[in-house]
Amino acid sequence: MFELTLTQEAVAEAPKGDRYDLIIIGGGPAGFTAGLYAARARVGTLLIERGVPGGQAAVTNHIENFPGFPDGVGGPELGERMKEQAVRFGLEVAAADVSQVGLEGDLKVVHTSQGVFRAPALIIATGTQSAALGVPGERELTGRGVSYCATCDAAFFRDKTVAVVGGGDSAIDEALFLTRFVKEAVVIHRRDALRATRILQDRAMANPKIRFAWNSVVEAIGGHEAVETVTVRNVKTGERETLPVDGVFIYVGLRPNTAFLGDLVKLDDRGYIVTNEEMETSLPGVFAAGDVRVKGLRQVVTACGDGAIAAVNADKYLQEHHYST
Ligand code: NAP
Repeated sequence: MFELTLTQEAVAEAPKGDRYDLIIIGGGPAGFTAGLYAARARVGTLLIERGVPGGQAAVTNHIENFPGFPDGVGGPELGERMKEQAVRFGLEVAAADVSQVGLEGDLKVVHTSQGVFRAPALIIATGTQSAALGVPGERELTGRGVSYCATCDAAFFRDKTVAVVGGGDSAIDEALFLTRFVKEAVVIHRRDALRATRILQDRAMANPKIRFAWNSVVEAIGGHEAVETVTVRNVKTGERETLPVDGVFIYVGLRPNTAFLGDLVKLDDRGYIVTNEEMETSLPGVFAAGDVRVKGLRQVVTACGDGAIAAVNADKYLQEHHYST
């Protein structure tokens, strides 16, 4: 299901060398925009991505708020197009999992499943991943009815009943997408008001296939071979109810992908990378862009802006330190 794995095609994208001017970690909108700007500036750049291009956008079925697409655009398509555009200008892309980043003097040393790569400048654009609920049954039934990606898994639930947990943009967007397949989607939200954008709220309220369980939290997910039930507790009344469902889609927020960094750069208390407006982190030559950094608005369009700024400043850093080829 939502595990990112190396495809045959991706494995074929072996990097040509082990020393670059700039390494970008992460192939979402921030990473590929940084790659586009760096490649056009003729900075010798390697972008390392462990899964499909597009990051979180690639697991979003339909993106309606990225300018230039009046009818919206599929997340996977947008990711592919961003990659194609950057590669056309000479960006090198490698499929690998980054395990650790270290230092050798001014050089940033990136340890990956495909070898070790070095560069004086680094852009971290590793984004976020879905947070887990942490309830009994969730881990055991992941891939067997518990999912964090409706875009990937909705088709398995044709004419079934599913629960969608959360009240943000992701939960409502994906609940709406699920209604193309399922008989009913029950949105379980811990409050009595949604966090999602108004236009999504309006669509969800008007959709006859969506039902809301307000003021409710999931206590457990049940099932033997696959999901069979979800147990919810009403936080106002304390009442418990076990609903028969075939799937549970979890959208209770995001966690930054920063564990591999150790204490290389300053993080906030939730693990997001602290930067200034120039996308500089606490370590000279290391920049961060997109959802992985501390910021107010996490959207494809703001990730792209971050990526452009990070690349331009990485190029400046290389020139000021006489590194650029
Ligand atoms: P989010 O905005 O952080 O919303 C998370 C939701 O999960 C909230 O409704 C929250 O409830 C609920 N929640 C959190 N922890 C929970 C728990 N332990 N148990 C039950 N419920 C819990 O996350 P998101 O929806 O994934 O969105 C992340 C970012 O991506 C946002 O900036 C969003 O705008 C953006 N995004 C945008 C779009 C779009 O523009 N179309 C689509 C997808 C995502 P409370 O409301 O009570 O806190």
